[in-house]
Amino acid sequence: MSNEVNFDEVYAKVDELKDEIIESLMKIVRVPAIGPKSGGDGELKKAQLIEEMIQDFGFDEITHYDAPDDSVPSGIRPNIIAKVNGTDPSLPPIWVMSHTDIVPTGDLKLWDTDPFEPVIKEGRIYGRGVEDNGQELIASIYAVKVLKLLGLKPKHTIGLALVADEETGSAKGLHHIINEKIFKPTDLIVVPDGGNEEGTLMEVSEKSIMWVKVTTLGKQCHASMPDKGINAFRAASIFAVKADEMLKSTYGKVDELFDPPTSTFEMTKKEANVPNVNTIPGEDTFYFDCRILPDYSTEDALGALKKLVEEVSSETGAKIELELVQHDPAAPPTAPDAPVVNALKQAIEKVYNNEPYPGGIGGGTCAAIFRRAGYPAVVWGTMYETAHSPNEFVEIDFLINDTKVFCTLFLSD
Ligand SMILES: [Zn+2]
Repeated sequence: MSNEVNFDEVYAKVDELKDEIIESLMKIVRVPAIGPKSGGDGELKKAQLIEEMIQDFGFDEITHYDAPDDSVPSGIRPNIIAKVNGTDPSLPPIWVMSHTDIVPTGDLKLWDTDPFEPVIKEGRIYGRGVEDNGQELIASIYAVKVLKLLGLKPKHTIGLALVADEETGSAKGLHHIINEKIFKPTDLIVVPDGGNEEGTLMEVSEKSIMWVKVTTLGKQCHASMPDKGINAFRAASIFAVKADEMLKSTYGKVDELFDPPTSTFEMTKKEANVPNVNTIPGEDTFYFDCRILPDYSTEDALGALKKLVEEVSSETGAKIELELVQHDPAAPPTAPDAPVVNALKQAIEKVYNNEPYPGGIGGGTCAAIFRRAGYPAVVWGTMYETAHSPNEFVEIDFLINDTKVFCTLFLSD
């Protein structure tokens, strides 16, 4: 940590900007940025708002690496790289990558307030995207602003990557900018898109992600004469229950580095079948979201599901098709003593006076994409992990303190 920096002054400046930081987070939450795969029109409006916001934050360079995408009205998925040049070019850049896109609200009945009109209640801000990934996006840009306001020049070059498409595979976001070769394996990369409420978890390892679409084809008929058809919904249900039991018992290893410590296999999205009650559905579609410990191969789990398909098909007469809609095998972990882990650890400790530790999660963030491409990245953030839930919220204290952590990290020696 730089000796010549007066960190009390830095943290006081962050506190002074508290209201502005809160207002800026609320501002970006008011602009939904949902990817086309989730039925939205993309991130452009929100990215433009953020770009406007950071014009006078002291960045030396703001560059676009937008990905073309015909499935959004603008034809563009925006990726912004904003940089502050470091004073010591021999040092590796420090990167913070956050994402502008959000997930849909889900059932609005489960929300106490309008997800896109953020509200402050008892020290918390509620709204879709406040935590995922608004808090840390705002914290990282404001850390840069604080350095500028205090006239502090970082030794490392600071790079903020504000990317699209994190929630639906990253093809138009992180994958796109990695292909542009803007990162080096020696760079220090932080992905503040997961963590715990103590701010202690520095995630260095993730589970494999496998999303499986299960389409069951039977034969449609009148519900009063089931013998004339094959009920696709029943066959799908039998498959779902059997798959659930089989996966949990076959892949039951416990690894305490992870939270939760086991692989998880959850049935999630269910597509509508017939519109009326008195028809037996001839087709049924649902999805499994599987998060598998790195000890197991996803191919193996998929193979086990395929075997079960044969069993349930012959039992029910329905045809069952499996399709992998997302497949991210676990990436090689980031070393628990990698330079980025150490630099971040020092910064967290200094602000929170806690004991940060490297660990594993099942979340599946962009960090896995970095790691697979050969860039050691660490995931960190101080949060209750309310992402994707109704009534998603952030603690204002976490927002402010994480801004201080980024200031400290950016001023690393
Ligand atoms: Zn996220």
